[in-house]
Amino acid sequence: MSLFGRFRGKGKDEQAGAADEPAAGAPEASSATPAAPPEKKGLFAGLRNALRKTASVLRTDIRDLFGAEGRLLDDDLLRDVFGALIKTDMGVAPATEIRESLKKEFRGRKVKLEDVMQVVKAKFAEMMQQEHGELIRAESGPTVVMVVGVNGSGKTTSIAKLANHFHHELGLRVVLGAADTFRAAAVEQLTIWAERIGVDIVKGQQGGDPASVAYKAVERAVETNADICIVDTAGRLQSQVNLMNQLTKIRRVMTKLIPDAPHEVLLVIDATAGQNGISQAKGFSEAVQCTGIVLSKLDGSAKGGVVIPIRQQFDLPVKFVGEGEKEADLSAFDPARFVDALFDE
Ligand code: GDP
Ligand code: MG
Repeated sequence: MSLFGRFRGKGKDEQAGAADEPAAGAPEASSATPAAPPEKKGLFAGLRNALRKTASVLRTDIRDLFGAEGRLLDDDLLRDVFGALIKTDMGVAPATEIRESLKKEFRGRKVKLEDVMQVVKAKFAEMMQQEHGELIRAESGPTVVMVVGVNGSGKTTSIAKLANHFHHELGLRVVLGAADTFRAAAVEQLTIWAERIGVDIVKGQQGGDPASVAYKAVERAVETNADICIVDTAGRLQSQVNLMNQLTKIRRVMTKLIPDAPHEVLLVIDATAGQNGISQAKGFSEAVQCTGIVLSKLDGSAKGGVVIPIRQQFDLPVKFVGEGEKEADLSAFDPARFVDALFDE
């Protein structure tokens, strides 16, 4: 199912300096957006490639444990399979559950690689299951999406990817709101993306009130009959009370224009941030009434298993996954496709 189907189918202050520095390795706004025309490639094309390293741990590492004839499923083998599972960042409890399933099914027997992989794949599919993965759409008028998360998690880049998808692949009219007013570079970064992708952007002054920018962005979306308004926010930690209150204020001002806005509050989580990243995000989601997760930076590491603890620890569906730094590097999250990309050769 294309995202098109999913989308249509549904009815300064106390800002901690350290938390708002650009992420290490983050390109300057100007270098993040090379001069080539916006990319278009569809919503699942990059998934297999992004999950290549994780898939290699699951397939190659586990395969290497077996001979052509199969192998006796003993404690040594169980320990080594468990080790490969842990490498994917899936977490100790889920990996233990899989190990116990294998033990129950095959212990003391000679097993083939395929038998083991079938059990592992089925468990992955079960653990990633979710409902309501599609983007929530306004019944009428613009759909308002607010994007939140800790600094450097990939919020602005994910917004560019969403804007690119909505505008270039779905033909929708998009307005961006640059409500990360804390850093001048943040507004500049989003502006460059907006120009490159060819969508409208509403900006405020650096250091200005983010709620006012958010309001104006939604206002512009209403006035121009746009289909979707995506509002960027500054990175923050759940412990920064005033900044968390600021998010509440941003939400509140939007409702003056569209009573049920924001329709989505997407929490961006960096897939490479490990358990610490997950617990930060957890506090966040409890404080801001998020509606879905964007899991960024799945590419380049072997940590694709992190979807499992995220699915298990959040009462929120994963809606999109980020798989690179370019605007086309986004997939809709679909558990079945995700598991196929991990296990199918
Ligand atoms: P923000 O502070 O949450 O807005 O984060 P940014 O969107 O500015 O991203 C921080 C850094 O992560 C930048 O260098 C991005 O290019 C990079 N980044 C964001 N998403 C991805 C992704 O899916 N894959 C990779 N490899 N890098 C990403
Ligand atoms: Mg940003």
